[in-house]
Amino acid sequence: MLSLKGMDLKLSDPVTKLPFVGKTYARRLKRLEIKTIRDLLYHFPFRYQDFSKTKKIRDLFAGDEVTVTGEVVKIEVVRARTGKFLTKAAVADETGAIEAIWFNQPYLTRTIKEGMEIRLAGKVELFGGRLTFVSPEFELIKEGRVPIHTEGLIPIYPETNRVSSKWLRVRIKSALAAIPLRAPKFEFIPEEILREEDLPLRGEAFNSIHFPTIKSKAQRARRRFAFEELFLLTLRSLGRRRSWGSRKLAQKINIYENREKIEQFIKSLPFVLTKAQQRTVVEVLDDLGKPTPMNRLLEGDVGSGKTVVAAIAAYACYLSGARTVLMAPTEILAEQHFATLRELLEPYGIKIAIRTGSKKPKQPDNQITERPDHHLWVGTHALFYKRGDFGRVGLVVIDEQHRFGVAQRAKLIKKAKTTPHVLTLTATPIPRSLALTIYGDLDLSILDELPPGRKRIKTFVVPNRKREAGYAWIREQVVSGDQAFIICPLIEESEKETMRQVRAVTAEYEKLQNGVFPDLSLGLLHGRLKSKEKEEAINKFRKGECQILVSTPVVEVGIDIPNATIMVIEAAERFGLASLHQLRGRVGRSEKESYCFLFAEKVSRTTYKRLKALESTASGFELAELDLKLRGPGELYGTKQHGLTELRVADLSDTELLKVARDWAGEVMSEGLSPKLQKELERFTTALVEPN
Ligand code: ADP
Ligand code: MG
Repeated sequence: MLSLKGMDLKLSDPVTKLPFVGKTYARRLKRLEIKTIRDLLYHFPFRYQDFSKTKKIRDLFAGDEVTVTGEVVKIEVVRARTGKFLTKAAVADETGAIEAIWFNQPYLTRTIKEGMEIRLAGKVELFGGRLTFVSPEFELIKEGRVPIHTEGLIPIYPETNRVSSKWLRVRIKSALAAIPLRAPKFEFIPEEILREEDLPLRGEAFNSIHFPTIKSKAQRARRRFAFEELFLLTLRSLGRRRSWGSRKLAQKINIYENREKIEQFIKSLPFVLTKAQQRTVVEVLDDLGKPTPMNRLLEGDVGSGKTVVAAIAAYACYLSGARTVLMAPTEILAEQHFATLRELLEPYGIKIAIRTGSKKPKQPDNQITERPDHHLWVGTHALFYKRGDFGRVGLVVIDEQHRFGVAQRAKLIKKAKTTPHVLTLTATPIPRSLALTIYGDLDLSILDELPPGRKRIKTFVVPNRKREAGYAWIREQVVSGDQAFIICPLIEESEKETMRQVRAVTAEYEKLQNGVFPDLSLGLLHGRLKSKEKEEAINKFRKGECQILVSTPVVEVGIDIPNATIMVIEAAERFGLASLHQLRGRVGRSEKESYCFLFAEKVSRTTYKRLKALESTASGFELAELDLKLRGPGELYGTKQHGLTELRVADLSDTELLKVARDWAGEVMSEGLSPKLQKELERFTTALVEPN
């Protein structure tokens, strides 16, 4: 190893500043998202190999995992009958000798030579009747060099093709030697916090997370980095909240003067608002009346009635002469909202326009184009983002937030000089503890109550052997007038539907139509259909012209077809509980009894238990909490949703640490950030990948 003493590196330096890291390795490291020294140091081991036990050769037993030190008395490469190379070394200490073997690494003889001092670490096994180290870690002993591969707790890293843990260990060790770890400027978390929470300094933590002397030190370091992430994450949210609050409001909404009219409107709705809806409406109207823009997240289980809350808000805006824009994630949902809102709001003189990919303004075949006299625009968000003209818009409603992120909301706002009120609707249940950290910039309203009379969706996990019986039962129901969704397996988790996914659903559709239900009429829906075709498929199903709709999982989250009472989900084990719950929410939208069948292919006991939770639990929030515990946030919210997958160590189900980080962030925010912390926060914020 080259000495780097006296050569101070900065965290922001590229990895190529390290000895033996050239273009080739830089390219390989990129696959691990390591570009700078900082990235390298933040590339933490996921476990440690325990080589803290050392023994003399005489004392070895088969099964030992130990380290021995000795002299290489012989080394040779032999060719096995299979044609493979076998490197054999005999190593001796003062008590005896043992053989070590490596497979297919003939080049080892270039490094390991007779007469050298060597340390071997690994498992001792019986090989050909003799005690042998099989493919051990090794390290040559040179004076003045501390062993890093064969002594103590050895870090094992996430690796990639041709970047091994062994290689990483050496680079990280040399980077640690070249970074001024002890310099006061190296720490950005206020001292008081470190002291009170008993967290190690960053420099020390780097040392002990990579090369811990004992396990507890590694744990303490890990806790520090977990805190660091949650702390920065919360600071980011709080910063966003602050800057949002200081923005100039686009349109003043007068709630007070119009109170009676709004109440009238609510009274005339075809149903009575649930308690949760009433509470939420009050929160939203309160916000709308303020001189600063609202930024509120409305979380509510599928079917909890979020749309009507948005409609009331839109009505309030209309009374003050402000427009509302409602963005839906897909065209079908935009159409659905358009229909619902027309029914609710047109009797009050509100003119509603729709704008989607296939219904662009000024298209001759489209009677409904937006004009300045339209008070409410409904459309897919993509189109609004493109245009981004929000003149006279007082309120923006974003439906199904989990499909796109904070960055997009920011982009949307950036285009305008002034900021409208923003209400975001989501059916993704986010536990409150977590919401405060990742959505700390938003105010939160929760609809935790379903409208009365909703029946619980009877849910069953169906093992493969009962599939035929399941189909037979579905046929019976369908013949007597019900309708069913069949959701085909999730192949890849991605925002866009891949061709693979489309091929899979098409094959499933053909199998079902031709083989299982030849006497019934089936429809097919996937994201690669043209929007006209999609609309047709949905409408046919809505009108009952086909009885079973075979669909991919990623399309049409909020679809509302009351006559559909059966939901079949194929390969349910591939979904998170929250997603399954959302899919299940497509049925159970009428008085009729509804059913959900979770077809499971091959499942372990734990998976089976996880799926069983859906049978007994009807609350999306409870299921989300469970998912968070069992599978982690990536699964819950999809990958790359909030940059959460960028978190390296923090465990988002650690509510305790979440709270500690949140409290400190609040305090620091109100007292002001040091320049060091400010800089670190900016770096952290830009490093988090957010969808665009
Ligand atoms: P989601 O929250 O999933 O978007 P919707 O807004 O689509 O739910 O509402 C689901 C259904 O429940 C709609 O048909 C709506 O008219 C109805 N609904 C909403 N609120 C109530 C209520 N308080 N009482 C009865 N039905 C309601
Ligand atoms: Mg909805």
